[in-house]
Amino acid sequence: MIDPFGRSISYLRVSVTDRCDLRCVYCMAEDMTFLPKAELLTLEELDRLCGTFVGLGVRKIRLTGGEPLVRRDVMTLFRSLGARLGTAGLDELTLTTNGTQLARYAEELHAAGVRRVNVSLDTLDPAKFTAATRWGKIDKTLDGIFAAKAAGLAVKINAVALKGFNEDEFDRMVAWCGEHGFDLCLIETMPLGEIEADRTDQYLPLSLVRRRLAQTWTLTDTDYATGGPARYVTVAETGRRIGFITPLTHNFCESCNRVRLTCTGTLYMCLGQEDAADLRTPLRRPGATEEDVREAIVAAIGRKPKGHDFVIERRGAAPALSRHMSVTGG
Ligand code: SAM
Ligand code: SF4
Repeated sequence: MIDPFGRSISYLRVSVTDRCDLRCVYCMAEDMTFLPKAELLTLEELDRLCGTFVGLGVRKIRLTGGEPLVRRDVMTLFRSLGARLGTAGLDELTLTTNGTQLARYAEELHAAGVRRVNVSLDTLDPAKFTAATRWGKIDKTLDGIFAAKAAGLAVKINAVALKGFNEDEFDRMVAWCGEHGFDLCLIETMPLGEIEADRTDQYLPLSLVRRRLAQTWTLTDTDYATGGPARYVTVAETGRRIGFITPLTHNFCESCNRVRLTCTGTLYMCLGQEDAADLRTPLRRPGATEEDVREAIVAAIGRKPKGHDFVIERRGAAPALSRHMSVTGG
């Protein structure tokens, strides 16, 4: 699938639920209203839709959410998607998780064909972790991370850079990741969805974080890429990588290869734009064939926009998009 700007679309992110067992302050409001369960696609329908995408050239699928591992029976979906790996067309099946359920699922994930996992961890300080997630316990996430490592999954730690919150911790996190063999990916906050906090207070440009890290660590640019928007450096002292995802200071749209499917079957062609395509209707229409769904997907790719225009500008201003990251899938 080639979009109007010549980009080849080979990466599908699927938000399998908008629900979560945490309430990270930059992601969700404390009091969220979630979708009624009746609106969700079944796991079988999600698998079928993913199969159509793979038939159209998608090579990498990432399950996300909300928290993907809180969706009931989600392992069934991992297993059916895992069967699409290899000669069936898919190169990689992976997930982004907060890690709370990983201790339980790490081995099953590996058995299903998952080899890499991104785990979100913004701080190594237990009290700060609880504050950032509103009620999470860091030990559960750490247990999950080490269970994933023990199960043979490569772990990448995702941390959102938050001004005045974790900016003094990055040296420690680089060292900790080096010690345990994890890559680290730092992310700038994006203005998605109403939250209680003011995003101007949270925003920390990663250009500044990188300059500070370079005072302690020997950072070398690399052209390593995982098919995602991160720019990577290697850390000579640890031998690990640090990725920087900078939607606000650096526009990464020109190399965008992805689209995002929600748990209700809505396809977003850009994380930062409102336009979407409804795939649930063609999927469920009586008598509809896979060809009808294919046509709906191809038409949607034909409308993929050139890029987003996130800005965090005015104090108290409305978010760039009313949709939370947990709906579209991070
Ligand atoms: N619950 C899983 C997790 O936390 O990893 C998967 C979904 S979560 C929405 C995916 C990623 O998006 C997480 O790394 C999270 O930190 C990040 N995220 C959430 N809201 C964000 C925002 N407003 N700006 C930047 N990153 C955000
Ligand atoms: Fe849940 Fe992930 Fe959002 Fe945190 S970032 S509230 S863990 S979906």
